Amino acid sequence: MLDRVYVFPGVIEMNVQARRRLGVNIYLIDGGSEYVLIDVGFLDDLTDVLEMIRQMNFRLSDCKMVIASHADADHVQALSRAREILKCKVAAHPKSVHPLETGDEIATYARIDAQNILIPIQPCKVDITLEEGQLLKVGDKTLEVWSTPGHTEGQLSFRMGDLLFSGDNIFRDGCVGVIDAHHGSNIVDYIKSLKRIQACDAKWLLPSHGPIFRKDNALIEATIQRLESYLHMSDFGTCAIDWPLLDNWEDELTRGVLPS
Ligand SMILES: [Zn+2]
Repeated sequence: MLDRVYVFPGVIEMNVQARRRLGVNIYLIDGGSEYVLIDVGFLDDLTDVLEMIRQMNFRLSDCKMVIASHADADHVQALSRAREILKCKVAAHPKSVHPLETGDEIATYARIDAQNILIPIQPCKVDITLEEGQLLKVGDKTLEVWSTPGHTEGQLSFRMGDLLFSGDNIFRDGCVGVIDAHHGSNIVDYIKSLKRIQACDAKWLLPSHGPIFRKDNALIEATIQRLESYLHMSDFGTCAIDWPLLDNWEDELTRGVLPS
């Protein structure tokens, strides 16, 4: 048997529980009579994760659903297998349904040929879609569904009292989830999502990578400023909205300015 390590009342995070890194964060929301999992991570870790759940004296059959915080392979590689073993529903944002159900290797970031990265992903049926503002009952707990696009179109966050399960929106060091056109990143949306998180009165952010941390509006502000600069930088390719250097150059060309 394993003593349950609650990071907050009704919340277990499996890396904290295991006291080692499992890959992504895996949250178990314990509603007493039932529970849900937010993300299940890599297939290689699934056996250990399920064994820990059993050892903590949860019944696998009490798992109400597994939620995909978004459709990136590192968060959902084990989703299809978990659905089979737990015999529970899988839930995701409507924009995550297509990549999850088709096992799209590009949109799920499972395959980066140039870096020889391949995270084989099994297509997974999505039983329930979660929309902005929906209230999700988990036994005696209630999660409020937030749509927070930016990193991906289907990125979800969940509000539960003082806690915000904040997905890949922002991490303790102010970094954000990867910005990549191939999996639907949108910097304008990203900034809106960060501003929403900044404006809310949650006290804690429970991200999908790295440690849980106290919400710090100065940290979020610095991140917003950084992303605002990205909007005008070629570094972010088609995720940027413009590149002022080209406008300047056009002006210089028409004026016949030579290198000086
Ligand atoms: Zn991630």
